[in-house]
Amino acid sequence: MPPALLEACKLFKDYGSQRAVDGVSFAVAEGRCFGLLGPNGAGKTTTVEMLEGITPPSAGQIRFRGAPVGRDYPQEIGLMFQSTALQDFMTVREALHTFGHLYRRHADFDELVQRCALTDFLNQYVNTLSGGQRQRVLLAIALANRPALLFLDEPTTGLDPQARRRFWELVREIKAGGSTILLTTHYLEEAHALCDEVAIMDHGRIIAQGSPAALLAAHFDESILVLPPDQAPALARAELAAQETLHGLELATRAVNETLRRLLDAGADLSGLRIRTATLEDLFLELTGQELRA
Ligand code: ATP
Repeated sequence: MPPALLEACKLFKDYGSQRAVDGVSFAVAEGRCFGLLGPNGAGKTTTVEMLEGITPPSAGQIRFRGAPVGRDYPQEIGLMFQSTALQDFMTVREALHTFGHLYRRHADFDELVQRCALTDFLNQYVNTLSGGQRQRVLLAIALANRPALLFLDEPTTGLDPQARRRFWELVREIKAGGSTILLTTHYLEEAHALCDEVAIMDHGRIIAQGSPAALLAAHFDESILVLPPDQAPALARAELAAQETLHGLELATRAVNETLRRLLDAGADLSGLRIRTATLEDLFLELTGQELRA
């Protein structure tokens, strides 16, 4: 494992009598993408705001490159907020220059523009950009100081699937260039696609942590059979319990052969059968009892 670039050490945050973050510790290894997931109100934003230096912790320590964060820390990090207010009648070029000037260290302008696929929009007003284009401008702003550590806070919320995938490709390229990333997201598919490691938060604490594959392997050893809704009577005859989901009737089983035999004996039509493996969405539901998107 590469050395830790960022460490959250027993972080607490209280708002009056409300404990928003309750002793959170984790390390983000250099060159890795670390994802913070959790249902609404779990404490993700508060945790990330402490790590970004925006909110002081009530207790605990934040370490960067092995030492407590110091005055130079803001120069080392790049922040992509969910919604940064960009001035309406400002072009993309002006926005990049304005934010770039806030830092001592600068990314090469042309390289940044090319990397974030902004060449065609440089002279366009930011208030006329599509959602995906706007997110790429915000990403370019976050990269303006060539940060060692990039914070992405729900970067693809509101984007259509194509723009989201395009954004993921960009993030992968940035990571391949050696950047370390801390991502918060509501999309488990996004976490699966981008993160080397994820931490799932609930009620201010981390309740599970590891690589997506390891977490799934540790929690699920079942296959999930998915049958069309019209097979409900056969399932009932076979005395098998299934859950109604958007995908169909789902039943989890460790004994696939035996379950299929019982279904056939009960006269089920298996031509529409699909088998899927567990996803982070299933894990999330199991651990928190909630769907991630409330
Ligand atoms: P979401 O996914 O909805 O953004 P989250 O996981 O980011 O949720 P936080 O925004 O960190 O959760 O909030 C954690 C808890 O702290 C919530 O109960 C919230 O109401 C509370 N909280 C957050 N900020 C403040 C504040 N400034 N003052 C008082 N309470 C706050």
